[in-house]
Amino acid sequence: MSVAVHRSLRYGDERIAFSLRVQPARRVQRIAIHVEPDGRVVVDVPKETSDAAVQAAVQRRARWISGQVAAVRARLAHALPRAHVSGESLFYLGRRYLLKVVVDEGRDGHVRLRGTRIEVAVANGDAARVRGLLDAWYRKRADEVLAARLAAVASSLSWVCTPPPMQLRVTKKRWGSCSPEGRITLNPNLVKAPRECIDYVLIHELCHLGEHNHGPRFHRLLDTLMPDWRRVKERLDGLVEQLMPP
Ligand SMILES: [Zn+2]
Repeated sequence: MSVAVHRSLRYGDERIAFSLRVQPARRVQRIAIHVEPDGRVVVDVPKETSDAAVQAAVQRRARWISGQVAAVRARLAHALPRAHVSGESLFYLGRRYLLKVVVDEGRDGHVRLRGTRIEVAVANGDAARVRGLLDAWYRKRADEVLAARLAAVASSLSWVCTPPPMQLRVTKKRWGSCSPEGRITLNPNLVKAPRECIDYVLIHELCHLGEHNHGPRFHRLLDTLMPDWRRVKERLDGLVEQLMPP
């Protein structure tokens, strides 16, 4: 078994710590310097190497060691730590949450709402994968929440016999649309909005089942169903930049 001894070397203004591992001469014939993946510097030396010889060897390679350590640090700075609150705001049903990324192999791919956070568990901290998992989670939530709300609102309207077919589609500018055949398309990002805003979009599209344009009859219908729809629409318009990613 080798014995580790802690030393340091100087490179310019830097002091770089390294551990010395004294090895039996049959295993190590000369001084060997390694920079480990975590940035630690380890120097293997054959038994009975003098301190002066070790120090001279590391000083000779000080520039290389410093460069290697800096490269490892830069790489580690870009990797995600084990549990990481990014500070990024996420919205769900009008509430603000913070994104938390947890590196956990056992729960890889798991997304959950927890207190004031939305937690994404991944085996490795790949930012693109976190984004993909979040998008899938929002889509699933949108599918459930928007379909249930659409059925509830539609059931109170005399001109709608059965809940209209609904589909989700990400668009840059629209929250929803209604086809001439009566199919309602909704932006999954709508699930990030406050409930009254969701209802406003659903009521707007359901009104199109009776009136396919934005004429006076359409607005009379909207006024009856949601008398303060202008205020709610204004609120939703003010949230567009936060709720619709560019
Ligand atoms: Zn419309």
